[in-house]
Amino acid sequence: MSASALAQFGTRHVARGIGRLASEVIESGSGSYVTMVGGRRMLDFTCGIGVANLGHCHPAVTKAAQSQVGKLVHGQINIAFQKPYLELIKSLLPLMPHESLDTFFFWNSGAEAVEAAVKLARHATKKQNIIVMQGSYHGRTFGTMAMTRSKTVYGENYAPLMPGVFSVPFPYCAQCSVATHSDGKYGFESCCMDPVLQLELLLKRETAPSDTAAIVIEPVLGEGGYVPPPAEYLAKVREICDKNNILLIADEVQCGFGRTGKMFAIEHWGVRPDILVMAKGIANGFPLSAIVSRKELMDMQKPGSMGGTYAGNAVSCAAGVAVAKAFQDEKILENVAARGAELKGMLDAAKSDSKTSKMIFDVRGLGLMLALECTPGHGYASKIQAKCMEKDMLVLTTSIYDTLRFIPPLNITKEDMAKGCQIIKEAIEEVAA
Ligand code: PMP
Repeated sequence: MSASALAQFGTRHVARGIGRLASEVIESGSGSYVTMVGGRRMLDFTCGIGVANLGHCHPAVTKAAQSQVGKLVHGQINIAFQKPYLELIKSLLPLMPHESLDTFFFWNSGAEAVEAAVKLARHATKKQNIIVMQGSYHGRTFGTMAMTRSKTVYGENYAPLMPGVFSVPFPYCAQCSVATHSDGKYGFESCCMDPVLQLELLLKRETAPSDTAAIVIEPVLGEGGYVPPPAEYLAKVREICDKNNILLIADEVQCGFGRTGKMFAIEHWGVRPDILVMAKGIANGFPLSAIVSRKELMDMQKPGSMGGTYAGNAVSCAAGVAVAKAFQDEKILENVAARGAELKGMLDAAKSDSKTSKMIFDVRGLGLMLALECTPGHGYASKIQAKCMEKDMLVLTTSIYDTLRFIPPLNITKEDMAKGCQIIKEAIEEVAA
């Protein structure tokens, strides 16, 4: 079948509910590139939405998975321990942002892991309610749809969802300045109203501390706009949790595993979560997710109350071991710092360049989790995205505001980063012209 015939077949037979950036068909991937059926090679600054963080088909990860396929594919953790599962825990322990995080539960997807964290929090605290951040994304199951507050499309017409979920604004400081100089295009965003105060008010007005099991937060807001919080915010949330016997759950599905330049984003603020949720980058594309917490909390759950057929699949775990090793062997975090500075430097320069500055509202992010928010009302982000596509490069938009997010592989070479920066720069300039 030709590339266009295959794409037509896909359009006819694949569920329409799946949004798609491109109607092309990916045939293979290698490093920072994907190759489409028909031969078109594209620079991939999406990593399959922050998953193939070590590049497509990283050789050591592929080798580890291939070797595991010949030994054991399915071990079923409800039947017995299996070796790669335990080896992965050994590899992850030294990477955890706090030594108290030492007991693991593996799942398949991010959403399932978020739900596992909620189950644990409810069980351990014997409380029901969950507080989430406006703008957050936690998944597409009934529980996580209720917790997702980034776009209405994710939950529209799918109710009733999981009850007991309350929300407060995330400190989205760029939007705060818009609200201050309001041109009527935006609603009133968070910081002006003090997000910490809002959390305290929520606990007084809507969900009492005695009913509230956990606050779930993405330390850097992902689908909601790639927004790092201000310096003190997470420490204050931790304080509120401690004062009220509420657990702090960090959803690092998107911002974890080196994406922000630290192994886990929460390390930027030195805050300890009670439960950490991981997925995406953990196995570089093999389906795997995890929660980690302290032993006495995890051990409150009754044997038999947790598990799942494919949870912690042996091949995915073997891939995860190779990912953890690559972080050490290849000095990934150093590359994130260097390449992130290059990309951010280019975006900052575009913001101050008189040819393009009017289009750019905000440049922000940490490491290689960077965003370019455009001046509202012109659809600039989608236009820049389309120009990048024309130039054989994949980039993603995000949030309800007009924002592009850049998620290149964490081990991208200097050359590929230079090429990506050049394409994005040209795309911005062409849209501005
Ligand atoms: N949490 C966050 C922060 C995410 O970004 C995502 C996925 N974009 C999820 C949870 C859900 O993960 P999955 O799609 O694997 O269920």
